[in-house]
Amino acid sequence: MGEVVAVVGGGYAGTLVAKELDGDAQVVLVDPRDTFVNVAGSLRALARPDWAHHVFFPYRALLARGRVLRDLAASVDAGGVTLAGGGRLDADYLVLATGSSYSYPARPRQAATSAAQALAELRATHDQLARAERVLILGAGPVGLELAGEIREAWPHKGIVVVDPAAEILPGFLPEVRRELRRQLDALGIELRLGTALDGLPPFEDGTAGTFTVSTTGGEKITADIWFRSFGARVNTGYLADGKLVALTDRATVPVDEHLAVRGHRHVYAVGDIADLPDAKMATHAQTQALVVVENVRAQLRGEPPRSGYQPARTRRILLPLGTRGGVGQMPDQDGLPVAAPLDTVIRRKGTDLFTARFAERFGHQVE
Ligand SMILES: Cc1cc2nc3c(=O)[nH]c(=O)nc-3n(C[C@H](O)[C@H](O)[C@H](O)COP(=O)(O)OP(=O)(O)OC[C@H]3O[C@@H](n4cnc5c(N)ncnc54)[C@H](O)[C@@H]3O)c2cc1C
Repeated sequence: MGEVVAVVGGGYAGTLVAKELDGDAQVVLVDPRDTFVNVAGSLRALARPDWAHHVFFPYRALLARGRVLRDLAASVDAGGVTLAGGGRLDADYLVLATGSSYSYPARPRQAATSAAQALAELRATHDQLARAERVLILGAGPVGLELAGEIREAWPHKGIVVVDPAAEILPGFLPEVRRELRRQLDALGIELRLGTALDGLPPFEDGTAGTFTVSTTGGEKITADIWFRSFGARVNTGYLADGKLVALTDRATVPVDEHLAVRGHRHVYAVGDIADLPDAKMATHAQTQALVVVENVRAQLRGEPPRSGYQPARTRRILLPLGTRGGVGQMPDQDGLPVAAPLDTVIRRKGTDLFTARFAERFGHQVE
């Protein structure tokens, strides 16, 4: 129990690693927030303020023995973490799991490190959105489309237009999944403008009500009363840019070996969105990787070499709800081949509660 495992980042992967190793070592979880954020629920949290508290799970309920250090890693080297608050955390093992940033409201703004602040911001944006009759969403990826679906369910009559320079939605997914998604979007009156971009961003801040007209590169004019940015994910690896641990890849991700150890290190691991792996940046893969690292650290704590290897996912998967009653999905079948998920699977596995029950279990909460 004497060895210290520092887990940097308390998202999907980091909280799983920390909880699993809590009985094996002295775990210290470092995160600037006071709660885990189940970001998969962020868009419903915007559309339904009465439900919004469901996405925040206090870290204090996660660990029985370990502790949570509310701070930001400013730098990491093989021996530990230098904290933005000025302190130093020495560790025998390090697991880096700092994930990615995405434009608000898909994730809380970086400055809103408490759930209370993040909820207040969501409520304020909800009020702005409630005043807007026409909504423009920039980005028709899964996040932009889920946002459109949540807005539609909360406000059946608002105009919703989604613009994206890509020619098709969900490129690389099965044609029947993409066709079904287009059908449902049409039925919900969510308008898609694909293969086009705006000449310039709207004159108001995103998420702030104010009527504007913008032109697309295709020459169309779009008038709306609020807009949201649903593009621009970035991995959170700035604290590694000093090169004290490893040279980042040209995508700013962390190079790892087959055991998910950071290249050149035996006791430092990287998981989730920041790991340089071919997987899509998804919580589901982050958590599978987390369990591989748990096995490897456990083996090392017993004095054995790490044996658990990670195989990146072979099949693209997605669950993309449009509110609580619609959406599409793609999953691997028992042979690993991609198949379209039936609507009731999408609703049951994600749309109904956006994984709230699953995280309530991890954090020992009762779901109301
Ligand atoms: C709207 C939305 C819906 C999604 N739906 C799905 C879905 O249905 N299924 C799916 O598989 N994936 C989904 N994803 C993707 C998923 O959220 C990410 O892949 C996942 O969050 C990555 O997990 P992670 O553990 O790598 O990091 P994250 O969950 O991003 O957690 C990183 C943590 O690190 C902390 N941190 C950052 N920098 C530092 C630092 N310097 N020091 C200390 N702590 C730091 C952050 O505060 C955060 O708590 C969705 C994403 C969005 C935005």
